[in-house]
Amino acid sequence: MKRIGVLTSGGDSPGMNAAIRAVVRKGIYHDLEVYGIYNGYAGLISGNIKKLELGSVGDIIHRGGTMLHSARCLEFKTPEGQQKGIEQLKKYGIEGLVVIGGDGSFQGAKKLSEQGYPTIGVPGTIDNDIPGTDFTIGFDTALNTIIDAIDKIRDTATSHERTYIIEVMGRDAGDLALWAGLADGAETILIPEEEHKMEQVVQKLQRGHERGKKHSIIIVAEGCGSGVDVAKEIETLTGFETRVTVLGHIQRGGSPTAFDRVLASRLGAQAVELLLQGKAGRTVGIENNKLVDYDITEVLSRKHSIDRDMYRLSQELSI
Ligand code: ADP
Repeated sequence: MKRIGVLTSGGDSPGMNAAIRAVVRKGIYHDLEVYGIYNGYAGLISGNIKKLELGSVGDIIHRGGTMLHSARCLEFKTPEGQQKGIEQLKKYGIEGLVVIGGDGSFQGAKKLSEQGYPTIGVPGTIDNDIPGTDFTIGFDTALNTIIDAIDKIRDTATSHERTYIIEVMGRDAGDLALWAGLADGAETILIPEEEHKMEQVVQKLQRGHERGKKHSIIIVAEGCGSGVDVAKEIETLTGFETRVTVLGHIQRGGSPTAFDRVLASRLGAQAVELLLQGKAGRTVGIENNKLVDYDITEVLSRKHSIDRDMYRLSQELSI
């Protein structure tokens, strides 16, 4: 293998730049030429492709976002779109591809692999919802952004007797809400993986109120509905004053934490290592802090699940 490509796709996440840097530097270290494909699969189809040098990825390890930009591209879901992408790769003589992104991006990578094009998936999403790795690139940074915001809300919360509802990202995965809830001692965590009874949420609030608690914090993953709706329901059932904060896209930005930079560097480099070994159609990840790789089709057939022990612990500690 002489030439490889790298792209970022779908929702961006902090640490993607560190992963791109690792792909480029590891590739060049092994005498490969590395090409950057801009704007995800859209740029692959249109041929928005440029050679990257060592200096092209200088000074980006600490930056959020992705220097290759990202896009959502419906055309790539069609066999014709995928074929156009493969033709571009062949035109540039690119023999292997690293795709950094979430499960949607992995679907695209799987299609390329099925058509005989060597592709490796690197899990980059703040949601931590990809099987085959304990952590995805960006999760730790987003979690710390949430904690920082909740700490600030907590400061003002102690001055007022209110129920604070914080809506965090996570349409299908409650990892951000669960970890944030544990890290910030939230009274209640609502995650899409668990059924919730509003009466129980309210009973807990009332018990706290009777014990003289000045304020309560409820973390709602967006997959459980909007924070505003939860707040309205609580106000109706209890008469307690509520305040809602929807953290939104601040969770996607910011300088990646040390953890995410190291994770991204390890996973980006490992993707290149696999291509050098002639492997294809794999995803990289870490399990128990060791590098692992799995068949991409198998990873996509698995369902991400929440850590039940952690969920139980969050309940035990927030009685
Ligand atoms: P994420 O990777 O963050 O989950 P998306 O779900 O938006 O983000 O997927 C990113 C891109 O991956 C899509 O815009 C599309 O180009 C490509 N993609 C998603 N699903 C498929 C699929 N089934 N087949 C081919 N490409 C896909």
